[in-house]
Amino acid sequence: MDDRDDLPGIPAPPPVGETALRPGTFDGTCVVVTGGGTGLGKAIATEFGRLGADVVVASRKDEHLDAGRQAVEATGARALAVSCDIRDADAVADLFDRATEAFGMPGVLVNNAAANFPVPAEDMSPNAWRTVLDITLTGTFLCAREFGRRHLAAGTPGSIVNVGATFAWTGGPGFAHSSAAKAGVVNLTQTLAVEWGPYGIQVNCLVPGLMPHEDMTGDIRSSLDRTHDKDVCQPALRVGQRQELGWAATFLASPYARFITGHTLVVDGANWQRRSMTNPPVVTVRDQMGLGPFQG
Ligand code: NAP
Repeated sequence: MDDRDDLPGIPAPPPVGETALRPGTFDGTCVVVTGGGTGLGKAIATEFGRLGADVVVASRKDEHLDAGRQAVEATGARALAVSCDIRDADAVADLFDRATEAFGMPGVLVNNAAANFPVPAEDMSPNAWRTVLDITLTGTFLCAREFGRRHLAAGTPGSIVNVGATFAWTGGPGFAHSSAAKAGVVNLTQTLAVEWGPYGIQVNCLVPGLMPHEDMTGDIRSSLDRTHDKDVCQPALRVGQRQELGWAATFLASPYARFITGHTLVVDGANWQRRSMTNPPVVTVRDQMGLGPFQG
């Protein structure tokens, strides 16, 4: 039998701070990153900053906005933090007004903001369902719509990178709301890429695998803590590192990816294709979450 300690797995990436593209790739480009003050959004925002972009971080909470702005500025880039709930079309229009005033019309939009928490479908309230769909799917649409309308009116090209999740294809037991919303995000990517290609707007989607970070919400963290060592559960024998997503995001939005549009790029070490030769026993979502029987 293979001893996992003897298997190399996929090598670790270069450290945070290295760039995949040439320095200055995004000089003079305004990049809006929703949810750019925490976790993977912050990693994406700083990666654009490292490559010369002027970065606008947008989300609701002051502490997240401060953290995102400071992280981008630490790369030497200019940053602006704008309070915005992406469910509100007027707030989204204001976000783009303020970004344009500060740095010129955003040339790149990263739709990273999302909401998620585990709950069995039978326990999910209508409000929980609507909230996640509103943030993850409708919010992504509203930001893309605002970006698209402004570029169509101005006759300028641009690039949108949506952020998805692999349960868009597999379904997500315990995450019915989020997986349905992410399936919508992947589908929306394809539609918008075709509708707006003639106007010079690329629309792609980036799907992270498991990339733990210190900003993960308590709900998600406790869900992860119920599993074994996260590394040995991945075919790569390691989880993803956030800079790996940052490099992929900057590539998709860069001049070197101009002919890539309508595409969904998965950065997950082949985890979503993982199957066993024989099925492991089924464990209900209630049991996985340590919940008692459904009481009705
Ligand atoms: P996270 O830390 O929970 O970040 C979510 C961000 O979205 C926060 O910065 C939050 O900021 C913002 N946000 C939430 N609701 C918002 C709203 N209504 N308006 C504006 N901003 C809002 O998540 P993450 O782990 O970094 O994940 C980033 C993206 O990757 C998400 O799309 C997620 O689905 C996807 N993903 C992550 C993983 C992973 O392993 N981490 C795996 C698969 C997919 P405020 O609270 O300040 O609003």
